[in-house]
Amino acid sequence: AEEEIRQRSRRSIQRYKVMEKLGEGAFSKVYKAQNIQTGDYVAVKVIEKFQLDEKQRASVLKEVALMRQLEHPNIVKFIDFIENEQCFYIVQELVEGGELFNQVVKYTYLSEDLSRHVIIQVAEALIYLHETVGIVHRDLKPENIFFDAIQVIPSRNRQLRRSDDPNTKLDEGEFTMNYGGGGVGMVKIGDFGLSKQIIANNSLKTPCGTIGYTAPEIVKDLRYSKEVDMWALGCVLYILLCGFPPFFNDSIDELTRKVANGEYEFLSPWWDEISDGAKHCVSKLLTVNPHERYTISEFMNDPWILEFLQRSESFR
Ligand code: ADP
Ligand code: MG
Repeated sequence: AEEEIRQRSRRSIQRYKVMEKLGEGAFSKVYKAQNIQTGDYVAVKVIEKFQLDEKQRASVLKEVALMRQLEHPNIVKFIDFIENEQCFYIVQELVEGGELFNQVVKYTYLSEDLSRHVIIQVAEALIYLHETVGIVHRDLKPENIFFDAIQVIPSRNRQLRRSDDPNTKLDEGEFTMNYGGGGVGMVKIGDFGLSKQIIANNSLKTPCGTIGYTAPEIVKDLRYSKEVDMWALGCVLYILLCGFPPFFNDSIDELTRKVANGEYEFLSPWWDEISDGAKHCVSKLLTVNPHERYTISEFMNDPWILEFLQRSESFR
């Protein structure tokens, strides 16, 4: 399969006009680009080969093989793969709001309705990955969730304050989230660098992901499976609702201990006005025992989620 990908990819990057940089990962830079023939705008992930060993090069080809199979409205679409002497180029659907999630996390939080609107779309992608394709994403986190057509506009009604998150300076301001152009914002998950096919009856056991969103069974080095994505979903939902992550600490050891014990709080005053239904949903996702944690279908049947789905049916 890898050889086939190589064969089919002996095309040139010249067919794209590369434009401004959209973002950066550990081994990649992502640029906006335009297909010269069609005029379509795309995102090109450029990975320089010299920095990768053989194993890492193989995992890039695996990511491509995986992305090719995926087709879902809430997953970034794969368009093309090009390889030359120096680089791999992964051409993907352009998600214009790219970095916005990071901005949301830094500067604001979402209303309960907008949080549900966003998290349900992430969940729809997980239903597809878990149930239709049979893979675990394993690297679900704010940086790998892309936004389209949602914009942040300044507002007077909600106050932002960051607490003791070590990664961000205390910041104050007033923001709220609104849908761009009055439409319904789309959320897409991307970055399949770490996702792996689940081998039947075989749970995965490789350390990966990012501490802070990582499930207890991973930090405790137990075998793990789909449940890790549900834990990460809980971390993302927590962040959407209040603007800061459930687990953070300056010391990795202390952070690891907190995650392993599921030690998080609904910190006052930030959580004071958030409904019990929302808190209950978060707590069923951030449950240490993976067997007691919400599965994706239990999540979709959570009363707080159902209430929103029923109410919003007309515009969905
Ligand atoms: P890595 O695997 O190196 O982490 P990512 O796929 O996460 O790379 O991409 C790095 C960054 O580039 C993202 O966090 C995002 O800001 C931006 N980006 C990636 N893909 C797209 C895309 N399809 N559209 C817009 N921006 C993107
Ligand atoms: Mg990434």
